[in-house]
Amino acid sequence: MRVVRTHSFRGRRYRIKFTADGLPRGYYGQCDPPTARHPTIVIRPGLSKQEKLYTIVHEAMHACYWDIAEVAIEGAADDIARLLLRLGYSDSHVKGDEDA
Ligand SMILES: [Zn+2]
Repeated sequence: MRVVRTHSFRGRRYRIKFTADGLPRGYYGQCDPPTARHPTIVIRPGLSKQEKLYTIVHEAMHACYWDIAEVAIEGAADDIARLLLRLGYSDSHVKGDEDA
């Protein structure tokens, strides 16, 4: 499977980085606003399979719906991630954090 370095959310291209650089302590991920010069989603390497999935869905939802409140993003991302896990998502589906 290919390593994903960029992805477009609602027409805005984001960089996807698996790194702890620049992430506040305790953060699993972070998403720039779509108005940033080079909008980026950062995912902390070394997360568990479930943490990684929840974080990717959560930050992707921020990229799609930047103006939606954190509490709504959190609830929806958790529900979607849980569905993907129930459908058989596995860690082998995520590439890109092995070089962080
Ligand atoms: Zn959030």
